[in-house]
This record gives sequence, C-alpha cells and structure tokens, in this order.
Amino acid sequence: MTTAVDSFADLGLSNTLLKTLAEIGYETPSPIQAQCIPVLLDGHDLIGMAQTGTGKTAAFALPLMEQIDVKVAKPQALILTPTRELAIQVAEALQSYAKNLPGFHVLPIYGGQSYTIQLKQLARGAHVIVGTPGRVMDHLERKTLNLDSLKTLVLDEADEMLRMGFIDDVEWILEHTPEQHQTALFSATMPEQIRRVAQKYLVDPREIKIKAATATVAAIRQVYWQVSGLHKLDALTRILEVEDEFDAAIIFVRTKTATVELADKLNARGYAAAALNGDLNQQMRERVIEQLKSGALDIVIATDVAARGIDVPRISHVVNYDIPYDTEAYVHRIGRTGRAGRNGHAILFVAPREIRMLRTIERATRQPIAPLTLPSRADVTNKRVADFKEKVAEVLGGEGLDFFANIVSQIAEEQNVGAEEVAAALALMAQEGKPLQIAGEDPVPRPAPRDDRHASPFSDREQRKPRFEGGDRPRFDDRPRREDRPSRPVPAGDMVRYRIDVGREHGVEVRDIVGAIANEAGIESRFIGRIGLYEESSTVELPAGMPGEAANALKRTRIRGVPINLRPDEGRPGGSFGGERKFDGERSFKKKKFADR
Ligand code: AMP
Repeated sequence: MTTAVDSFADLGLSNTLLKTLAEIGYETPSPIQAQCIPVLLDGHDLIGMAQTGTGKTAAFALPLMEQIDVKVAKPQALILTPTRELAIQVAEALQSYAKNLPGFHVLPIYGGQSYTIQLKQLARGAHVIVGTPGRVMDHLERKTLNLDSLKTLVLDEADEMLRMGFIDDVEWILEHTPEQHQTALFSATMPEQIRRVAQKYLVDPREIKIKAATATVAAIRQVYWQVSGLHKLDALTRILEVEDEFDAAIIFVRTKTATVELADKLNARGYAAAALNGDLNQQMRERVIEQLKSGALDIVIATDVAARGIDVPRISHVVNYDIPYDTEAYVHRIGRTGRAGRNGHAILFVAPREIRMLRTIERATRQPIAPLTLPSRADVTNKRVADFKEKVAEVLGGEGLDFFANIVSQIAEEQNVGAEEVAAALALMAQEGKPLQIAGEDPVPRPAPRDDRHASPFSDREQRKPRFEGGDRPRFDDRPRREDRPSRPVPAGDMVRYRIDVGREHGVEVRDIVGAIANEAGIESRFIGRIGLYEESSTVELPAGMPGEAANALKRTRIRGVPINLRPDEGRPGGSFGGERKFDGERSFKKKKFADR
C-alpha cells in the first residue's frame, strides 16, 4: 500500500465514525483517504485527483459528516455528481457511514424523479444533499433548496460533469452558494476547464494526487473478467475450477467482513478456505499462513493489510475479487504469486464502472491485462471429466484391481448387464456429491465432446440470448449439431405430456429430470413444462413436435441409473402434480421456445 497511515484513528476522525468504520469492516484508510481526510478536517479546500474505486467517497464524506449538526434540519453539505446513479450511490455510502448518527438525513435529488416527492423530502429537512447539477440548479432557482447553512460543497467526478456538458450548471451553482464554505473538487483527470473552475472557486486548495506507481510484474499472467451477469462468487469458482496451474490462491477483498463471508461461502462449496484479516492476532495469522503453506488450506481471503509480506511459493493465483484502490496495491497484491521461479496468475474482477482503474493499472504496470472469457459450464464439466479420467488411469496403472474386477464381473452377471454399464454406475457413485456435470440452465456437452463446441452460446446466463430461426417458433435440437438438420417449427403453445419410469422411489428430484432432458434433448430448461413427480414414475410436459432423434435420445436416457423410457402419457395420473415447477413471466408457457444450440 502507498500510505504509511495504517489506521483511521490517526486521521482525526471522531469516535462515532471510527466505531462505524470498524463495524462496516473498513480496516485501514485507502491512500486517498489517508491524505484527504486530515486536510478536509482542517478546513482546507481541496483538489483530489482520484477516480472511482480509490475510496474517494469516504475521503470526502467522512470529514463533511463531522461538520454536520444533526439538530439543524438544513442542508449543510452539497455533493454534486454527474449521474443519478452516482448520486444514489454516494447517498447510500453516506447513509451507511451515518449508522451511529441518529437523525442524520441525506437526500439524493436528480432529474427524472418526481418534483413532488423531492419537494416533500426537501421540506422535511436533509443535512446532506447529493444531486446532479441540473436538478440542484432547478431547486435553487425555485428556492426549494436553501443553501444558507452550507458548510461543505463537493464536486465529485468533475471531469465527468464537464464531459457530460454540466460545467455551466456547476458554475452557476458555485455562483449561487454562500461565500463561506469549504469546497472539495474530485476529478480523475484535470482538463484545463476544471483547473480554471478550481482556480476561480477554490480558496488556496491543497492538491492531492495518488501517484501511479510503475512496476514490472513480468512473470505473472494477468487477466481480468468484467463482472456481468453471473455473480462474482459463481464466476470465481468456475474460474478456479478450470485454471490449469491452480495450486493455492489468495483472494483480495476490501473489507474484513467480506473476507469472512467469502471464506464461509467457499467452504460451503467445498474449498479449504480461510479469512485473513486485521482481526486475527499474530498467532492466528501465522497459523493461517502455515496452513496455506502446508496445503491444509488452498485459499486465503485477505484484505491488503493482512496479506502484507506473505511469501508462500505455492500461491499460484491471486484473485482481485474487489479491485484495489491504486496501482501500487495491485502490484503488491499480485506479487504474492509467481514466487520462487514459479508461474503466477493474477485475475482481476472489474465492474463496468471500474474500467478506468483497469486502464490505469495497465498504464502503470506497462502491461496489458487480457480479458478473460468466463469458462462455460461445459468447460467445467470437461475439466472435471478430464481430472476424473486421470484419476481412473492412475488407479488402472496400480495394483490390487483383481478383487474388484471379480466383483464387477459378478454384478454384470447378476444384473445381466455389460461391464460398461457397471462401470458407469460406479462412476456415478464415485462423484461423491460433486457431479461431473454441473446442473443448471445451460446445456452441458457429453463428457467427450465429438466436436469443438466447448463454448456453447448458451453456456452462460449473461451470454444467453434468443437464437431462433423463423421467429419465436420453438425447435428441438440434436447433439452434436448437424448443419443439415431440418428445422421443425411447431406452433407455440402446444405441449405434450410424457411419462417416464423414474419417480421419488428412485431418489429422483425435479431438477434431475430437467437437467437430463435439457442435456439429452437439447431443450433449454425454461421450455420444459410442468413436471409431475410420483412414486414410481413421473410426467413431464414438453413442447410438441419433438424430432425423432431427440425422442430417441430421451428413450435411452437414464436418470440416477434408471432408464426413463420416455413415452407419451396416455393415462391420467392419480393424485395431483407432486413436484410442480412454478413458472413466471419469461418462463411461462406463453413464450415457449426451444434452444437452438
Ligand atoms: P469509491 O472509490 O469511493 O467508489 O469506493 C469504492 C469501494 O471501496 C466502495 O465499495 C467502498 O465501500 C469501499 N471502500 C472505501 N474505503 C474503504 C476502506 N478504507 N476499506 C474498505 N473498503 C473501502
């Protein structure tokens, strides 16, 4: 980290705010916070060159909150932001910092929101207004916003306000605020016009810039995933599962709370993971690091401070689950891997609004960070199958198989099946709670794909988009794809009920049926209709017009080892639908479609 300040307590903040920061899990100030907070607390005007992700919100919010007199129900601070999203986000941040300040009230006001609501809220009296320039100007003109008690004015992302054409409004607002107040201007860049505004309206400002470190991190492969669609946790586990050289990882998050939460979630998913944060005493910290070294732990989730100085050669991966505040922290973090002459991998999660930080890191490290394509479910399955085959091959190469070979022969004979089927049953048993195929909505190719379509277009929720030929008409698809396959449109809305020979007594659940049908017949799960789960058999509704190949595939399909023998359901089942699937909106049958994979 860039800063020598390790503690918020050194910055001059009140005990109330210090308590809040500890409660929300901020362990140590980010560099921009360490530098800005004392300056602002001293009452100086300030120019802060920092971008989103550096912790700049708290850098200006905490000092301005120290000045608020909650008993005075008037706006005492005004924060201008370029967008309504940022206004809401900043207001939420302030609200979270105010959790121990009863009566504190922050109000976001922005264009597009009804004036009536805003007027009511303004009349109720807010201590801090966070708003977009246009709407703030409107309220000032209408005299529905009174800034007579203003103590602090913050221009957040000033260069963005300039870029979006708000600079005249900003200047108008600056002209119409009382003389006596503190002004802080934050901007990622300092174009001439912003500098001019700063010169005109700020009084003897202190300038704070988070210097970008340059460093080379040559031996480390650096990639980033732009967060979208999938939850970060799901993306993380998918990535870790298919990474080739994975041995151990250190995952960086921002807060102590997040270290614990993520460690719990990873443990629940079967990873040997532990949190490493400033709450651990030296002895506990050393124990975690020792366990990581010895292989008792594979993943440590850490904050920047807690991970300082860790030197564990088996760390093959560093994951920046939360983007670091600055390039120096980034370089520091990824330096935990690629040690002792080994290869290192650094994976960075970047939210869309953090793209700028990514570019800054690339500039500072003078190395491109390549985008990472999220592994599809099929990729994960392929990896699991490959690992499984490897394990089997190892056992085959070893000794002591005779006894078991004998048992397999006996089973085959007694059950009147081939050895291959016995092996399949054993393989199924060997999955031990971690199935080779991951269930879910997108189709997973068979273990040994006969073509190279690893990256199914439907493999990820975020990538899925309708791909229908001939409009919205549903179709079945076979597998592997055959380009000459005639498309068989059927009228939307028709469902046919089928019966299958598996039910509750086979330990089958609705999701097993959905998964098997989705995989074997190439029908996207949302187009699978109601499923009736009974003791010995079940029924399932599928769109009409199923082509022969899909029907044949389903006839041969087994669920939990039992052939399902799919056939049209003639008789009426007794009782009501046992395991009915509920559908809503998109999933309703009004929009039935088949996946065209
Ligand atoms: P910002 O750059 O202000 O948008 O902040 C980015 C993120 O960092 C937000 O989610 C903040 O909650 C978080 N954050 C800011 N300061 C700290 C800190 N000192 N410790 C941990 N997280 C922080």
